[in-house]
Amino acid sequence: MKKYLIIGSGFSGAVIAEQLSKNPENHITVIDERDHIGGNCYTERDSETNVMVHKYGPHIFNTDNKEVWDYIQNFCEMVPFVNRVKSIYKGNVYSMPINLHTINQFFNKTMRPDEAKIFIESIAKKDIEEPQNFEEQAMKFIGEDLYKAFFYGYTKKQWGCEPTELPASILKRLPVRFNYNDNYYANPYQGIPRDGYTGIFEKMLSASNIEVKLNTKFDSSWDLSEYEKVFYSGPIDAFFDYKYGRLSYRTVYFERAVAEGDYQGNPVINYADPEVPYTRVHEHKHFTPWEEHEKTTYFKEFSKETEEADIPYYPKRLTEDMEKLALYEEEVKKMDKIYFVGRLATYRYMDMHHVIGEALDLIKKLK
Ligand code: UDP
Repeated sequence: MKKYLIIGSGFSGAVIAEQLSKNPENHITVIDERDHIGGNCYTERDSETNVMVHKYGPHIFNTDNKEVWDYIQNFCEMVPFVNRVKSIYKGNVYSMPINLHTINQFFNKTMRPDEAKIFIESIAKKDIEEPQNFEEQAMKFIGEDLYKAFFYGYTKKQWGCEPTELPASILKRLPVRFNYNDNYYANPYQGIPRDGYTGIFEKMLSASNIEVKLNTKFDSSWDLSEYEKVFYSGPIDAFFDYKYGRLSYRTVYFERAVAEGDYQGNPVINYADPEVPYTRVHEHKHFTPWEEHEKTTYFKEFSKETEEADIPYYPKRLTEDMEKLALYEEEVKKMDKIYFVGRLATYRYMDMHHVIGEALDLIKKLK
């Protein structure tokens, strides 16, 4: 029998456990410090409204990786879902990400795609050759007015710093479109699991050679010698007892409310004005349009710096973080049977499909 330890039951841990469980000679222990599996993808029905709630914020599954799309459907029924986000700025509702509707509405014009392209090129800061940060990336592609309206305030609220301090890669997540396509994502496969995400994790971890231990926190004093391999998906700095210092993360928290009927008519509405203290409002019953609910529950999302008791969400990857990360990564290289997997352990801004894809690839490599 070969014993494996997996620290964390989010997608990294659950996929690796599921893959390893196919060999009946393997025994896999999955631990999680929370009282539930699924990490930040955890969903549960709201006790008051019965709406399926994404407890740690909205998760819309989207990928361009056919293997990942096929794989996830072994564990759930994915219902096709297109996320159409709105953004409110100075009393107007716009389409987000920026598309032809946003551009025409914002500049009070009726341009066709080619005209809009020429117009945006005329206001974009073309002299920026290689954008060095979030702000330069935005100025190069959409110019100052659209950037200031839709990104500057929102990004300062979400990340708690000047956009000039953030990597350009964060903005590259969002497309700019010269048509009326208002699909938030550009990936070809998009959906929401019919019965939420928690059921996916239950299925992934259901094999008899997987043992799940909740409310169990890993620390560096553990003896790992009995394990063939260990997969760690917690924060990389925590694994090393923060010996090179803490990496910075943003965390989010929510203010829940309940109303009759339909509160905002859309799953997600962003608030671009810096005076509004929250970044966005999500109303979860719109993630399951196939269900009917008389009441609704919605959440105002606020963002703040991660403190010791908070759940880390978004790796900030500021210059000083990257220096510390390099030191931690040197330590990781020296280890032979411990694998650092997923968003927190690799300190990268990864979506669910990236995490699943990398976990599947790692298992293939180890075979
Ligand atoms: N962003 C923004 N305004 C918006 C939406 C996004 O300024 O209305 C910025 C923000 O900095 C965010 C980044 O664009 O972190 C990427 O957006 P995405 O929706 O990918 O972020 P997520 O919430 O999925 O992490």
